[in-house]
Amino acid sequence: VAKRLEKFKTTIFTQMSMLAIKHGAINLGQGFPNFDGPEFVKEAALQAIRDGNNQYARGYGVPDLNIAIAERFKKDTGLVVDPEKEVTVTSGCTEAIAATMLGLINPGDEVILFAPFYDSYEATLSMAGANVKGITLRPPDFALPIEELKSTISKNTRAILLNTPHNPTGKMFTREELNTIASLCIENDVLVFSDEVYDKLAFDMEHISIASLPGMFERTVTMNSLGKTFSLTGWKIGWAISPPHLTWGVRQAHAFLTFATSNPMQWAAAVALRAPDSYYIELKRDYMEKRAILVEGLKAVGFKVFPSSGTYFVVVDHTPFGLENDVAFCEYLVKEVGVVAIPTSVFYLNPEEGKNLVRFTFCKDEGTLRAAVERMKEKL
Ligand code: GLN
Repeated sequence: VAKRLEKFKTTIFTQMSMLAIKHGAINLGQGFPNFDGPEFVKEAALQAIRDGNNQYARGYGVPDLNIAIAERFKKDTGLVVDPEKEVTVTSGCTEAIAATMLGLINPGDEVILFAPFYDSYEATLSMAGANVKGITLRPPDFALPIEELKSTISKNTRAILLNTPHNPTGKMFTREELNTIASLCIENDVLVFSDEVYDKLAFDMEHISIASLPGMFERTVTMNSLGKTFSLTGWKIGWAISPPHLTWGVRQAHAFLTFATSNPMQWAAAVALRAPDSYYIELKRDYMEKRAILVEGLKAVGFKVFPSSGTYFVVVDHTPFGLENDVAFCEYLVKEVGVVAIPTSVFYLNPEEGKNLVRFTFCKDEGTLRAAVERMKEKL
């Protein structure tokens, strides 16, 4: 394997989902719903296939999807973007992340990310040859350490990678925190790459896109996808929204990574994004119920549970159960209890920092969540 990928193993999500199958465990690890996406979106995909939209799509997106993404972004943020020049459709947000890094980062550029972080960030930064600087968000509230951010930004800093609502912690960056990041970026001429795939799963506060803060649109790539909002994680439809001078870089990388994204699924994605408000309201209400079931359950089992304001994840401290670290705990949990969680140490530059924390997902039906809690109550 190439040196730039040597340190990365099989992704933790794949590893844990394989263990779940092997041990017949209940999988609260990898974040994918065990219920299906909405009928009207699936119907739209079938229709698009029957209509013959089956050859390569336009590289940067099926025109109507670019328009639907721009409409949605305007509804969410008030920003008016040009669907032709400022929206790029990618194969999931994971590809948007890779295309953004590879298209806008030069070898040696410094990029700051907040740990714990989604695993693809560090790997794609490594592919781009970036110099990665980590800043750790610490429990109980995972607040932004402002002084540390100030002292980490240097004249070599090219970008900050932001993720709100935040995987794995469920933290949402507050308006004050985003304002601080924004003013530091403007002052030091730094870009922001903002992964907002959980924006529709914002429960306890309003989601704010950093691109909507004054002076930020011109230096921000906002990334999102269909997967979480429509429970269609396997469709791999994502996008990046950015001003033309940044879009140019993103599209250059995208053109040679995947060239174009699945054509019929893009037609269906356009239909999905135009869902009535009631769809989004119900989604949020359902997830808040699931969150309550899992959080109350985990507390009753005896975990220290950290508050999750958004996403479909919750992080707990497993140390009341006496295992030496997060990996040992998750191994015990899958083998002896029959439940899968994700150890968080893989989401830190220094794995030690994550050794007390594991992540559970609540994107499962109520019965599954309750069954997992029962197993833990009995056997932990
Ligand atoms: N984003 C999902 C999670 O955090 C997993 C994505 C993946 O498996 N690569 O669980």
